[in-house]
Amino acid sequence: MASTDFAENRRRMVDRDIAGRGITDGGVLAAMGKVPREAFVPDGLLEYAYDDSPLPIGGGQTISQPYIVAMMMQLAGVKAGDRVLEIGTGSGYSAAVLAELGCKVFTMDRHAALVRSAAMRLRRLGYKGIGLKSGDGTLGWPEESPFDAVIVTAGGPGIPDTLSRQLKPGGRLVIPVGEQERFQRLMVRQRTGEDSFDDEDLGSVAFVPLIGTHGWKTKETGAVGIVDLIRQAAEPLPDLDDPRFGEMFDRIADKRVVLLGESSHGTSEFYRARGKITERLISRHGFTIVAVEADWPDAAHVDRFIRHRPPGSPDEPAFSCFPTWMWRNVEVEGFIDWLRRHNGTIPDRQDRVGFYGLDLYNLRSSIAAVLEYLDRIDPETAGMARERYGCLSPWQRDPTSYGEAALEAGFKACEKAVVGVLQDLLKKRLAYLNQDEAEWLDVQQNARLIAAAEEYYRTLYYGSTSSWNLRDRHMFETLQSILAARGPRSKAVVWAHNSHIGDASATEMGRYGELNIGQLCREAFGEDVALVGFGTDRGTVAAASGWDGPVEVKQVRPSIDGSYERLCAEAGIPEFLLDLTLDRDGALITGLKRQRLERAIGVIYRPENERQSHYFHANLPDQFDHWVWFAETTAVTPLAGAERRDQAETWPSGL
Ligand code: SAH
Repeated sequence: MASTDFAENRRRMVDRDIAGRGITDGGVLAAMGKVPREAFVPDGLLEYAYDDSPLPIGGGQTISQPYIVAMMMQLAGVKAGDRVLEIGTGSGYSAAVLAELGCKVFTMDRHAALVRSAAMRLRRLGYKGIGLKSGDGTLGWPEESPFDAVIVTAGGPGIPDTLSRQLKPGGRLVIPVGEQERFQRLMVRQRTGEDSFDDEDLGSVAFVPLIGTHGWKTKETGAVGIVDLIRQAAEPLPDLDDPRFGEMFDRIADKRVVLLGESSHGTSEFYRARGKITERLISRHGFTIVAVEADWPDAAHVDRFIRHRPPGSPDEPAFSCFPTWMWRNVEVEGFIDWLRRHNGTIPDRQDRVGFYGLDLYNLRSSIAAVLEYLDRIDPETAGMARERYGCLSPWQRDPTSYGEAALEAGFKACEKAVVGVLQDLLKKRLAYLNQDEAEWLDVQQNARLIAAAEEYYRTLYYGSTSSWNLRDRHMFETLQSILAARGPRSKAVVWAHNSHIGDASATEMGRYGELNIGQLCREAFGEDVALVGFGTDRGTVAAASGWDGPVEVKQVRPSIDGSYERLCAEAGIPEFLLDLTLDRDGALITGLKRQRLERAIGVIYRPENERQSHYFHANLPDQFDHWVWFAETTAVTPLAGAERRDQAETWPSGL
């Protein structure tokens, strides 16, 4: 958790994020070192006040990223005594920095409410003599012109002539300009004479849109209008315990396969919502298969329990490997109790609902065995392996953490032994394979697995795009054998992370050659499949800091600007369903189709480099058929003992 020693954090921000990234203007650095940024951000975001990122300040607006503020001032060449016009007051933060620099500041914003609160804040902090007004900044402030510098903190489609002409000769205008509302180039224009200007392009930036006469005209399309369109199309969801919650999903009940996602592996609302939807699909619509992102042997324990069968061989307790909380949690326990009760009402054993694990046979036990082995013989390689296994989640690419060469060498040296360890494990597993398991995991699939085991384990060990694809192909093939085994009319619900079930070809995964079970299901079942994604803005989540680490309850950061989550949060409806199959040519889908960022939290969450580790580009309406939104969410509650890996336990605890 970030410390709240603001002065210290501020010093660190100036050193690391401003000076450290190449800002040399002494006046700007000194001013940034003085303005208390914590006074400009909403109370709920205080701990992020000195992160180098933009933050939401309400009304869909943001306080700019500190580095960008500094860069714009350096580019504008502002110095003490200058008359400076700022367009886009927002929180008033950059106006305060300019005042601290000794400038005579004029700032305006099109939102009167923002101007009012900025004025109060600046007065309270003792900044006097700042001119503030509300109005269309693309028209400038002619009465106070000319200016030594004009700084625009919102992005427009071009450089407004009005603003250029309010510059003194030699004066500079800094403004983000771009054809898209949220992605711009940072332009610096210097007035060199009465009618002559020099323009320079400083690279890409992302600001909120500049709206006005010489900016973006209306709210019809793009980032601004899209929030209104989401709000109009969003169907508010009833309370999770209200029977009407499940009914909202009757629209997907005619599908053969329904895939339900999640954007973290530790969010209570996602598990409970999927539980309610699945209960409805089972009790009203004939679904008999629940197939989840878990290992087959672990799920088999649950399957025996819910089908009122005797427990299997207690060789290894269910869900005893990292990440235990993903299935050993109170939310899943409640759902499993429901399944058992439901099955109790169905006399014919064959008709009872089954619970299956789709993941690579023994994925987690295999990883645990590798780590245990390496810990004993080569701790350094063990450390790398832990990092590598993060790559089984596509969003955990962190190419900078280890040198590739060192990695390859250490890994090669251990390869033979590791593959041996894994093969022994497989042999032991197969020896335990009992009747129930054999019934579903058909003989052929088993044989193929054994034949391919060596290559399969080598790929798994090295971790790469091919191990991801191997895993999702395996999940898909397992689902197909389950459907085949349960008959031509069988219907399945799949629970897995959004990154597995949202069509990979509509995300940046596709660009890396990665596919997933959602994409494979669409290819195989066409219209007979529904892909349902789940998202959230903020709250808490259960996750680890590194592979094999303990579960922690972590704060989920409010979603970043330019993400789908940000748009949903701005729509202001706490829980809703967005049906992306409707009106495919309409304004909402067209607007949403513009690629944006999307967040994926896995078993690992690293908020400190969230943008790099957890956001990827996606095209939401092509990725999912439906989108379920919970603005604020809470962490799952792990079952007691979920962290104890050495103790024989059965599932569930009371069995
Ligand atoms: N400088 C601000 C960040 C501002 S965000 C800070 O440090 O907090 C951009 C602001 O530009 C928003 O508040 C938005 O309302 C405003 N804006 C957009 N179009 C505008 C226009 N035509 N005239 C004035 N302000 C505008």
